Amino acid sequence: MTNNSQNRSRPALVIVDDEADVADFIQDVASGIGFDVAVYNDGNTFERGYEQCGASVIILDLNLPGHDGIELLRFLGERACQAKIIVTSGSDSRTIASAQALGKQHKLDILQKPLAKPFLIEDIEKALKPLIGHTGGISGADIRNAIRNDELIVLYQPKVDLLSDNGSRLAGVEALVRWRRPGHGMVPPDMFIPIAQREGLMTELTNVVVEQSIAAARAWKDDGLGFTVSINLDGALFDDLTLPDRMHARAQSVGVPTQMLTLEVTESAAMADPDATMDILTRLRVKGFNLSMDDFGTGYSSLVQLYRLPFNELKIDKSFVMDIGNNAEAEIIVETLICLGQKLGIKICAEGIENQAMLDFVRKCGCHLGQGYLFSKPVEQSLISNLAHRFSHDGAWEGGKSTPMPQAGISPRSSQNI
Ligand code: C2E
Ligand code: MG
Ligand code: MG
Repeated sequence: MTNNSQNRSRPALVIVDDEADVADFIQDVASGIGFDVAVYNDGNTFERGYEQCGASVIILDLNLPGHDGIELLRFLGERACQAKIIVTSGSDSRTIASAQALGKQHKLDILQKPLAKPFLIEDIEKALKPLIGHTGGISGADIRNAIRNDELIVLYQPKVDLLSDNGSRLAGVEALVRWRRPGHGMVPPDMFIPIAQREGLMTELTNVVVEQSIAAARAWKDDGLGFTVSINLDGALFDDLTLPDRMHARAQSVGVPTQMLTLEVTESAAMADPDATMDILTRLRVKGFNLSMDDFGTGYSSLVQLYRLPFNELKIDKSFVMDIGNNAEAEIIVETLICLGQKLGIKICAEGIENQAMLDFVRKCGCHLGQGYLFSKPVEQSLISNLAHRFSHDGAWEGGKSTPMPQAGISPRSSQNI
């Protein structure tokens, strides 16, 4: 093992790879970006050094002498490892995808994009640069204070109706939390939600998001904009059988019909305790809430379970949508899920539409809803009415054929949109 981790002030990257030249290559690039790097060339040595290495990011090769990458995922899962994990391998894409799914099943934070060998410098930079801020410095107490000091805010990202007769129409928005952290700028959810989950703070955090989103829904309703507002619900909330009554009471007290609200639940959260979840989801649905299965395709669920749970929307995970044009398997999955939704009478939303080719593909397959940077990044509440009116006044937003929807740089306050 090579390790320069003494007196660390930079984020720690651990590379577990038996190919010395590959490990050196990643180490050079990562050190240049600002990581403090440790390298292990086999699984057993990594296991012995794990407690000391303090990794915030791990690049894990699947094919290793001694304990292989799959065994190491199990090892890390048993230790509730909080590091971000990038899987790397020379194996085919389906094998890598299975390993990633297994890692998620172990409740590990597996990054969606693997480093498939062979890779280029740009690939390593692209994977690691967004993680440079993942230094772990955020504690549960920091998040508790953030909630108390009103530092959490909600941005909204349009969900677009792709099948309406007169072109695209704003069908709804998804509420996405951000932390306006003094001295640190806008912190994205991936950097603090895993900590809030670990510290048991998801109920408190969700309360803030629900309050702000329902208030925004009421304001849009008063403006004559009757679209749905989607709120993400963490799996931890499904421990509490009073959730449907509390959500219903909250919506009623603000004067928002439950039909205007969609609750997004990830596949893994919905499957964690199917019986309790079915009770809660069914009562939410009976009370009129829309239910959306989020990130579909990234967890484990059988079609039978999907059919038994009362979802009326399914969101295809962006990792598939963003591979349209590059990966034939991803295209088959997207097309099949859209077809499945049509047959089951469930609305399908394609998440992560970034370009016209992706939009054309999902629309050709008959996808109902689309969400992605091509339409708009998440923006502040005040910008949404503008977007909605632009849809109705321009008749339609048709990708490159008309004025594009605003991106993150649209408003004078755009630096606040991330
Ligand atoms: P999600 O619920 O699947 O939300 C969609 C994520 O995809 C958002 O990231 C959105 O900005 C991003 N996205 C949408 N279109 C595109 C695109 O075209 N390209 C790319 N690259 N990304 C796109 P965001 O806001 O960073 O949120 C990440 C995740 O954090 C969410 O994934 C959700 O799981 C979680 N999250 C955010 N807010 C909340 C919340 O209030 N409660 C809970 N429980 N989770 C939340
Ligand atoms: Mg969501
Ligand atoms: Mg999603």
